[in-house]
Amino acid sequence: MGVALKRCGHCKRDLPIDNFSRNRSCTSGLSSYCRECKRKSDAKDYQLHSETRKEHVEKWRRANRDKHRAQGRIYYYRNRSRRKKRQREIERKYYQQPAVYRRKLDREGEYRARKLKTTTERISRAAVHRRSKGICHICKKWVSLRAMHVEHVVPLSRGGTHTYKNVRASHKRCNLSKGAKLMKEL
Ligand SMILES: [Zn+2]
Ligand SMILES: [Zn+2]
Repeated sequence: MGVALKRCGHCKRDLPIDNFSRNRSCTSGLSSYCRECKRKSDAKDYQLHSETRKEHVEKWRRANRDKHRAQGRIYYYRNRSRRKKRQREIERKYYQQPAVYRRKLDREGEYRARKLKTTTERISRAAVHRRSKGICHICKKWVSLRAMHVEHVVPLSRGGTHTYKNVRASHKRCNLSKGAKLMKEL
C-alpha cells in the first residue's frame, strides 16, 4: 500500500526503503546497496584489506617505536585500576570457594608438566605439606601450606616428573632460587 521501493544496486531486488541504511555521501541520502548486500560487501572489504591493515600498523610501529611504547605505557597506566579491580574480584571469587581455589593451586604444576609430556599425577598440596611436616626441603625451615610451593626435586625442564615421588614442600623463595638446578648443584 504505497510502500516506497528502491532497487539495490547489487542484488537488483526492489526493496522497501528501510532496507537501505542512510549514507550522506549518496545523492539519494541512502546507500545504493541494500543492508544485506552492504554488510556482505563491507565484510569482504574488511577481509580483503586485513593484511594491508596489519602491515600498515606494523610499519607505523616500526617507524614510531618510542611513540608506540609510550602508548602502551599510557594504556597500561590507564587500565591500572581496572586491572587491579579485576584481579581482586578473581581472588575474592576463589576465596569464597576455597575448594575451587585449592584445586586451582593443586593443578598449577600439572599443566606445565603435561605440556612437557612428562609423567603427571594429580598432586594435592595439602598432602605434600603433611608428608613433609611443613618443612621446606631446601632450607629445612617451616613453611605454611598457604605459602608453600610444590618443588620438583628433578626440575620438570630436566625430565623430572610431576609425581609425589618427585615433589617436595618448599618456600617460594627457595623454589625460585633453586630454579632448574638439582639439589647437589646448589
Ligand atoms: Zn542487495
Ligand atoms: Zn625454604
